Amino acid sequence: MTHTCPRCKQPGISNLAKRWSSRAVPAQCTVCSGLSHVLKSTDNGIWAAGVVILVVSLIGALGLNSALFFVSGLVLAVALNIRAWRRAKMYPISQEAVANASKVGLAMLGVYAFLGLFQ
Ligand SMILES: [Zn+2]
Repeated sequence: MTHTCPRCKQPGISNLAKRWSSRAVPAQCTVCSGLSHVLKSTDNGIWAAGVVILVVSLIGALGLNSALFFVSGLVLAVALNIRAWRRAKMYPISQEAVANASKVGLAMLGVYAFLGLFQ
């Protein structure tokens, strides 16, 4: 399973690479070596939708005392997750932007470590 690269329009990005892509760690196209990633808001939205479905199906399963209800909720969440990831749009990102995103990430880590000293 591959995804179309937003740069060269060739199916050069594996679904797994797309799934785990972010600004700091983008997916690389096997055709043009271009970097691209899925927006953080898309990533968060897909997770949130999955969590909502799971919670609703868990509450429903407990209320109806039916494990089958939870299993169907689980199947629905997984199916929607796969579908959402397949449809998620990828955006090209430059090498410099990736370096900056990594730097920001490291800086945030430093800030958190620093704040941790005072807790
Ligand atoms: Zn490409």
